[in-house]
Amino acid sequence: MNQSPVELEIDLNQDGWQCGFARIPHSVHRSAYGFIPVPIISIKNGEGPVILMLGGNHGDEYEGQVALNSLARSLKPNQIHGQLIILPMANFPAAQAGLRTSPIDSGNLNRSFPGNPQGSPTEIIAHFIEHTLLAKADHLIDIHSGGSSLYYHPTALLSTPPSPKEQRLRQNILNALGMPKAILYETEVDAGYSSSAAARNKAIGVLLEIGGGGRISSDFLHQLEKALLRYLQHINVLDGTNEQVLTPTRNFRVPSKDYYIHARQEGLFQPEVKIDDQVESGQLAGWIHFPEDVKRNPEKLVFQHPATVIALRVPAKVIAGDCLYETAIEVTS
Ligand SMILES: [Zn+2]
Repeated sequence: MNQSPVELEIDLNQDGWQCGFARIPHSVHRSAYGFIPVPIISIKNGEGPVILMLGGNHGDEYEGQVALNSLARSLKPNQIHGQLIILPMANFPAAQAGLRTSPIDSGNLNRSFPGNPQGSPTEIIAHFIEHTLLAKADHLIDIHSGGSSLYYHPTALLSTPPSPKEQRLRQNILNALGMPKAILYETEVDAGYSSSAAARNKAIGVLLEIGGGGRISSDFLHQLEKALLRYLQHINVLDGTNEQVLTPTRNFRVPSKDYYIHARQEGLFQPEVKIDDQVESGQLAGWIHFPEDVKRNPEKLVFQHPATVIALRVPAKVIAGDCLYETAIEVTS
């Protein structure tokens, strides 16, 4: 039995502007015949590419949730050639709670694909996205941020395809998005990420990291809104032209795990560099302080490799295992 138990309040085959809920069955003490209401919007006009856009894959990442709703409100079906399917709060219980993972089942949606139609709510949502929505999609745009713990400046994440022709296609997509930075990586086709789900469905998968730290940056939100319009225009789903981006995207890759710095002890993290700083091997990255232990000197953190700082931890309080920095090297060829 691989049938999804999700009931859709809208008809994805129908032209026009529709919104409703994808109903995830949820029978609990306070609501015997209840459902989890995942908001879904379809804007369809005839044949053409199908674009699936996700916000709230992680519930504490807010720019995508706001940008996708404002995009949906701004578009009329006659401006579209094809279809936009939008889930602004993809893991609804997590987004409602402002948490990365679902408070119902602790599920991390972006580790849960391809999901399970008989599983927990997060697994049912993952299965619905992969087998009902991505199965008909040509493109996936999954909008993330650093969440409550990390901060990014706008960055696109895109897999590196093997052929030069596909690589040119990807570069055109990056140019259309106009993000200042992109991280190129090899897709893990068998993994639980949305990019893996897109690859399994032969859809072009783009993940965006926009801000974070549990807040919304107005500047980044506006950059995101313009990037989404440019992307839709670039693939001829939306008429018109948006202002062009004059600064080319800088491409990066993360060569290995030791381009991340993690806390190894509990304490208070004091960063010494900023996002986009160029750092050298051995350079001071920050300190872990131990305020309860007066005689103990702070632990010094250093970068292992020359790199550019991509993401930075926001809260000072850390325990062993918390990610403090992501760094990457620029790809110039
Ligand atoms: Zn995320």
